[in-house]
Amino acid sequence: MRANKSYLRAQTDWCNQDQDPKCQRCEKELETMLHIVKCPALERARTNINPKALDIAPESPLWKSNKNGMELMRRLSSYVMENRINYPTRMEVFPFTPYAGLAS
Ligand SMILES: [Zn+2]
Repeated sequence: MRANKSYLRAQTDWCNQDQDPKCQRCEKELETMLHIVKCPALERARTNINPKALDIAPESPLWKSNKNGMELMRRLSSYVMENRINYPTRMEVFPFTPYAGLAS
């Protein structure tokens, strides 16, 4: 997250520079880390999450190396994994090349 390296569409790299950087879930804003913690399409998924776990500002307790920071980071990580954020939403997108595509 902090290095701006991810599969988020607005964090472009050599392998995805031609793709649409908009969020595929809401199609309203650029898919950045800041957006995914407030994306309207994920509002329901955030219902029972401590808002501090979704506060990614530099001064947030989320980044602290203490028990509270670790718990907030665990919750943010769960949110990302449960909602498949940071993963391609379609199969057959780099690096998930279909097995058949590897045979040549
Ligand atoms: Zn969105």
